[in-house]
Amino acid sequence: MNDEHNKQWCQCHLMEVLSDHPAYPIEYCSRTRTFELIYGNGLGRHRLYYCFDCGGNLPEEDYSTRPVPDEREQAEAESIMSSALTVAEVVSALGPPDEEIPWSEGPGTEIYEELAKRYPDQYAPGRNWLRCLRYSKRWRSLLLDILEYEGGEIEYSIWEQSVE
Ligand SMILES: [Zn+2]
Repeated sequence: MNDEHNKQWCQCHLMEVLSDHPAYPIEYCSRTRTFELIYGNGLGRHRLYYCFDCGGNLPEEDYSTRPVPDEREQAEAESIMSSALTVAEVVSALGPPDEEIPWSEGPGTEIYEELAKRYPDQYAPGRNWLRCLRYSKRWRSLLLDILEYEGGEIEYSIWEQSVE
C-alpha cells in the first residue's frame, strides 16, 4: 500500500507564513526542507510533522538534498577518536574545542527530565553527560561532538555540516 496516497497534506500554508514572520517560533529549514519549532534561545529545534492548524501532514525530510560528511574528513575524525579515550586525549589531539556546552544548557534537557519523572514506565531516565565538547571549525563538512560522562567516559557523534 502506498502511504503517500492516504496522506492529507497541509493546504492552509499557515506554517509557511509563520516561518517568514520573526515573531513566531517556526522556521523553515532549507537544508532538510522541513518546518521546525525553535526553542531555548534558538538552540533547540523540533521537527514539525503536522500542521497545528489544519492537521495536515507537513513536508517530509528530503534526503536527496541532505549533505553528507566528506569521506576523507569523516575517516580522519573517526581515526582520531578511535585512539582517544578521555577528554584529555581528545584535547591533546584536536586542541581546545570550538564550543563547550554544559549538560544543563543542552536544549530540551529539562523537557526530557520532566517526561522521565512523570512517566518513568515510558521514559528511561537519561544518562546525563557532564559536558559536550564541540569541534565545528576543524572540518568543512562535519562537526564532532564529544560527550563526557561521570567517571571520565566519553562518546562521540559526527554530524553533517552544511557547506555554504
Ligand atoms: Zn495546514
